Amino acid sequence: MGRPAQERARHPADPERSIAALVSRLRKDLSTEVDGLDAALRSDPPVSIRINPRKWRYGPLADPVPWCENGRYLAQRPAFTFDPLLHAGAYYVQEAASMLVEQAVRASGLIGERIIALDLCAAPGGKSTHLRDLLHPDALLVCNEVNGERRSVLKENLWKWGAANVMITGTAPERFGRLTDLFDLVMVDAPCSGEGMVRKDPHALQQWSPSLVEQCATVQRDVLKHAWNCLRPGGFLIYSTCTWELGENEARLRELVDEGGIVIPIPAGGAHGALATDHLGINALRCYPHRLRGEGFVLALVRKAGTREAVNGQPVATPRDLVTELGWLRATRNWMAIQQGDELYAIDGSWARTVDALQRSITVVSPGIPLAERKAGNWRPHAALALAQDLDMERQPTVDLDLDRAIELLRGQSIGAKDASGIALATYRGIPLSWLQGAGTRWNNRWPSHWRIRSARPSAPPVSWST
Ligand code: SAM
Repeated sequence: MGRPAQERARHPADPERSIAALVSRLRKDLSTEVDGLDAALRSDPPVSIRINPRKWRYGPLADPVPWCENGRYLAQRPAFTFDPLLHAGAYYVQEAASMLVEQAVRASGLIGERIIALDLCAAPGGKSTHLRDLLHPDALLVCNEVNGERRSVLKENLWKWGAANVMITGTAPERFGRLTDLFDLVMVDAPCSGEGMVRKDPHALQQWSPSLVEQCATVQRDVLKHAWNCLRPGGFLIYSTCTWELGENEARLRELVDEGGIVIPIPAGGAHGALATDHLGINALRCYPHRLRGEGFVLALVRKAGTREAVNGQPVATPRDLVTELGWLRATRNWMAIQQGDELYAIDGSWARTVDALQRSITVVSPGIPLAERKAGNWRPHAALALAQDLDMERQPTVDLDLDRAIELLRGQSIGAKDASGIALATYRGIPLSWLQGAGTRWNNRWPSHWRIRSARPSAPPVSWST
């Protein structure tokens, strides 16, 4: 009998794509790390999540990730797919080392400011949801992804996270490069050879090869050039990868320094295992799985020379805007409705001119909070509006579902009822999940069909949160 699939993936037949080959390549530049690394890459990865504090105020009583306020380690990997709280955007399953981005954002000093930020390589949305929570609520975050399939996942994750002042775009970095000096903060979580993920994702090891490292370096150089162009003088660029290669990290950052960029050291913020390193004269934080409870990750912060001027958002006069008339959102800001095709979105009126300018120059997939969708000529609340953090729950009748009913809903089934009529909001543990449409003896389901759970219940333990 052959070895189990996971075992085979960890020790693939092609010797170039093995942990041994990877470690021997790293020995040249990172000799002090490789022995510990070799053993760690053959052990099991930790499991961690980041809580959405605006949906799930306290989250589980689990082991905190010291460098991320809302990060938690879990003792084992549960069957996340069968946890309605995951679908409600109450938390995001994220690798712990990558949560160190929080320390880079803090080191930039931009957290309290009303800025324009760009996450240039955003799918599936781990850094975007994290950035959105860290930045000032009035800041605008543009989340971009070039790959169409991955962009759908990004949209799903961001809509479920439910925050305001988030635009989703799908444009090549080159077009952003033409928006000279626009963003105060640009995050480039670059496509990379993925060395740091080989323990967590067997596919990463199968894909890895020295030539992939070279190809990635070429893409990274190009992406960084455009990211740098759209950064304002005095603005900050956060660069990260999940690979240890100098050619995909410090060598690429060196090129920004040659353009006048100033590298800012990032304090590790309680991440005692994260190494503050200086390769090729570039200060970075490097994470190795034998030193820190997480996967491989490299992170750096670079400031563009010059003085940053405050962004001026001019509110657009909206005396009786449609958003107010519809009454679905809390009056937390000066909402303004904009229509894109058969969908209506709510945006913060103070960003209206910026959103308009971006719509003219790049491909905008979602300019704000999805508010309504047109079906058979009529506007009805958008499925993603149910998941918006600013939804006015006081104005909606709610139906709190138990676990089995919530799973039925997530599978696209109707929910049995007595005298169900009108529209109601389905919640799970008090957290909104989906619209329901009353039809007498049942609630019809408005959960989007492409978000449905299609798999059979697995043997992994169910999620049991003790909060
Ligand atoms: N930031 C994401 C997160 O935290 O969930 C992960 C981003 S992943 C490491 C890199 C992303 O870059 C992928 O989604 C990939 O589709 C995208 N990408 C690939 N080639 C690219 C290119 N030439 N320009 C911009 N993005 C690219």
